[in-house]
Amino acid sequence: MNYRHAYHAGNFADVVKHIILTRIVLYLQRKEQAFRVIDTHAGIGRYDLTGVEAGKTGEWQNGVGRLLDAKIDAKVAELVQPYLDIVRAENADGEMRHYPGSPLIVRHLLRRQDRLSALELHPEDAELLAEIFEGDIQVRVTKLDGWLALGAHVPPKEKRGLVLVDPPFEVMGEFDRLVDGLVRAHKRFSGGTFALWYPIKDRQEVRRFVAALHDTGIPKILRTELMIRPISPEPRLDGTGMIIVNPPYTLDDELRTVLPALSKILSEEQNAGFTLEWIRGEQVDA
Ligand code: SAM
Repeated sequence: MNYRHAYHAGNFADVVKHIILTRIVLYLQRKEQAFRVIDTHAGIGRYDLTGVEAGKTGEWQNGVGRLLDAKIDAKVAELVQPYLDIVRAENADGEMRHYPGSPLIVRHLLRRQDRLSALELHPEDAELLAEIFEGDIQVRVTKLDGWLALGAHVPPKEKRGLVLVDPPFEVMGEFDRLVDGLVRAHKRFSGGTFALWYPIKDRQEVRRFVAALHDTGIPKILRTELMIRPISPEPRLDGTGMIIVNPPYTLDDELRTVLPALSKILSEEQNAGFTLEWIRGEQVDA
C-alpha cells in the first residue's frame, strides 16, 4: 500500500469528487429520516497543505486553490458554496492550511440522526482517522478492507444513504473490482446511492469500464467526467470521473450548471471538456 493521498489532497479530482459528495449528502438531508454514509476508502480525513507531501506536488493550488480565488456566477456559487463553507470552516483563520477529506466533509453535513461508517486499510491512516473522530458517536472508523464493506456493511440499518468508493488505483484490476463491488452491493441495497470514483488516464480502459457498467443491467447510472487536459501520451491523471448510481433527481441539472464553470477554472488547457451522460436511465433497456 504505497498510495498516499496527502500528495494529492485538494487537487482538481478532489474538488469535483467532493462537490458531488456534498450535493448528494445535502439531498439526503431533505428527508427527516436518518441516513448513513459508508466511505469505503476514507483516507486520513484532514490533510496538512503545508506538509512535506502536499508541498512537493502543490496540486491543491491548481485545485481548491483556484476555486477559492475564482469569480463564479451566482447560480454556480450557490451549488458549490456548501463545499467551500466546509473548506473554510477547516481554515478558520483564513490561511489555507488544511484540506478536509471525504469523511470530514460528510461529518460536517450529518444531522443528529445521521451516521458515517469510514473504512481505511492503511494502519497509520486508519489511526489518524480514528483520532479525528474519537468520542464521536455518529462516526465509526474501522481498519478494514473497504471492498469487504460492499458485502457485509450493506444495506445499512437506516436503509437510506450513500456508499462512496474511492480506491487508490495503485494496483491492476481496480476498474473490475469497482464493477464487481457495485453488483454485489446493489443486490443487497438496490435503493442506495453509490458514488464510484475513477481516474482518466487511458481512454480504452474507461470505455471498457463504462461498457461493463452498462452490461450489469443496473438502472439509473450517471457518469460524469472532467478533463483538465487531453489524454497524455504517457499515463497521467488527465481527468477525473465519477459514476453515480441512483443519483438524487436534482444532480443531473446541478452538474450541468457546475461542470462548465469547474472546467474553465480547473483546466490546464483550453476546452479540455467534461462529460455528463446516463449509462442507463430509469428504464433498463437491452
Ligand atoms: N476518499 C478519500 C477522500 O476523498 O478524502 C481519499 C481516499 S484515497 C484516494 C484512497 C485511500 O484508500 C487511501 O487512504 C488508501 O490508504 C486506502 N486504501 C487502499 N486500499 C484500501 C482497501 N482495500 N480498503 C480500504 N482502504 C484502502
